[in-house]
Parts: sequence; C-alpha cells; structure tokens
Amino acid sequence: MSLAHDTSPRPPLDLHRHDWTREEVRALFALPFPELIFRAAAVHRENFDPAEVQISTLLSIKTGGCPEDCAYCPQSAKFDTGVKAEKLMELDAVLTEARAAKEGGASRFCMGAAWRSPKDRDLDKVCAMVEGVKALGMETCVTLGMLTGEQARRLKDCGLDYYNHNLDTSPEYYGEIITTRTFQDRLDTLEYVRNAGIHVCCGGIVGMGEGLDDRVGMIATLASLPVHPESVPINLLVQVEGTPLAGQAMLDAFDFVRTIAVARICMPASVVRLSAGREDMSEETQALCFIAGANSIFYGPKLLTTPNPGRDRDMALLDKLGLRPMT
Ligand code: SF4
Repeated sequence: MSLAHDTSPRPPLDLHRHDWTREEVRALFALPFPELIFRAAAVHRENFDPAEVQISTLLSIKTGGCPEDCAYCPQSAKFDTGVKAEKLMELDAVLTEARAAKEGGASRFCMGAAWRSPKDRDLDKVCAMVEGVKALGMETCVTLGMLTGEQARRLKDCGLDYYNHNLDTSPEYYGEIITTRTFQDRLDTLEYVRNAGIHVCCGGIVGMGEGLDDRVGMIATLASLPVHPESVPINLLVQVEGTPLAGQAMLDAFDFVRTIAVARICMPASVVRLSAGREDMSEETQALCFIAGANSIFYGPKLLTTPNPGRDRDMALLDKLGLRPMT
C-alpha cells in the first residue's frame, strides 16, 4: 500500500521514546518526501516555536595536531591538510571572541580543542574559559575529546552547560571513519557526561560515503540513548583536501533534509542543529531543513577550521524566512 494514500488515523507520537527500532527509522526515511517533511514539521510545532532558531558560535581554542585519525578531519596530525598545530588559546583571547559572538546574537559559545582527551592541567584552563564565558551571560559548550568520569564532574563543577561528543555515524560504519578509538569509547564518554549532569550535544556527519542503513543506524542509536541528546548536530561532510574523505560523491540534498527530518521525529524535544556544510548549501536547502525541524545553526564565518557562511549572510537568510534567534 502506498503511504501517500494512507488515510488511516496515525498513532499518537510518543515524545520520549527511547526504543526506536531500525525498521521504524528506516520506514521514516522511506516515506514520500512531502509526507516525511509534514510529519517532522508537525513534531517540531508540538515542541518548539518553529520561527525560532538557536544560535551558537564555535571557536577552535586548540587547533590541529590531533593524534586521532577521524577521516573527515583536517586537524588530524595523520593527514597533510595544511592545518598547523597551535597551542591552547589564552583566556583573554577566548573571552574577546565570546564577547563578539554575543554581540553578534549568539546565545551559546562552543569551544573545541583538537585532543584525543584533555590533560588535567589543560582542563584547569578550559574551566577558567567556561567560567569567563558564563560570566558574560552565555551558555557554554566544549568539545575536548574523550573524558573520564572525574573530568566530566570537574567540568560540571565549573558550570559547563553542554558537552559535545558526536557518534559520527552508525556503529557498523564507524570503523571505516575512525580507527584510533571505538564506538564504545564514544558511548562511555557520553555516559560520563550525562551522569555528571551536563547536557549532551551529540549527532553525526552524513555524506561520508555511508549508506542509507548507516544513516538509519546513526539516528536509531542517538534516539535510543537513555536520554536523548539535548542538542543534535547533523553535519554535512565538508571535504578538505588531504583528508581520506576528500573527493567523496556529494550527498543528495534531499537525503540530507531527510536525515534532519527523521532526527526531528525520533528526538522530538531535542534541538536539531543544521551544522557543518552550510557554506556550500543553497538557501532553499537550508530553508527545507528549517521546515523539516532544524532549529539551530552555527553562526560565524568559521567552524573550527572550515568555512561557514558569514554573519550578514545568515542574518539575511533568517530575515528572508521570517525566523528569529531563540532567546
Ligand atoms: S575530529 Fe576531533 S578527535 Fe577526530 S581528528 Fe579531528 S580534532 Fe581529533
């Protein structure tokens, strides 16, 4: 039976399901595109004001020289991408960037460090950054690699709001992308962060040569975590020369929008972030993503080391679409 002509009443959506099966998630991906977008938009409206977009700014506080081998990442020391290894930024410089982000309209300031895991002496400096950014009246997020339970508690004690640690892809495809740590390592860090009482920011990347089943597996895994990540970044691979994933076939834009829509349906109360990959994305595709339930963007001309649309361009797009920053 064609779902396009299915007029039977729909079961009410359970807003807090954590038992999404792959079959169910696959069935969502298989819906006719307009039906999928309609359902995702309905879920979005039940949980958020669809005219509001949460705005985050991301700063690389420690760039390059990372010992991990994430195949998409220009900051890995294993690939020759022209990104130079730098030291951890000084506190004052970070706070200057945070003030500028706030003046530009960002409500959350995210700080990323290219580490496998932070050393304790580095964590002291990051904690000072978190405290300084919070004192400006912004939410804070950091991404520092793998954490121990003790490190997660230290970050909570200094007031951190969010910790970003992406699953990246499905458990099955993960080994094609990263060999220096396991999928289980990722789940462990997420557990430490959750147990410490820090909000979780966790999503993945599409367009890395994965198949539909991997996008299904990634969303099903995210939506089956004990608590849905409060923030779910969905990234479109930014291909960087020198990384193993440079030269991948581009993901079809509709497949990207479908991923956003399915994430919205499976994690109804999470903020779904239209993340990396917007620089080369048409305004129309971005608008479709907002209609499909994306309600957050990274704002500012750079995402760690890769380009992102300029602030003026983003504000013009939000204006055109009648969207406004989430307060
Ligand atoms: S994604 Fe993070 S952990 Fe992986 S190589 Fe890049 S900086 Fe290192």
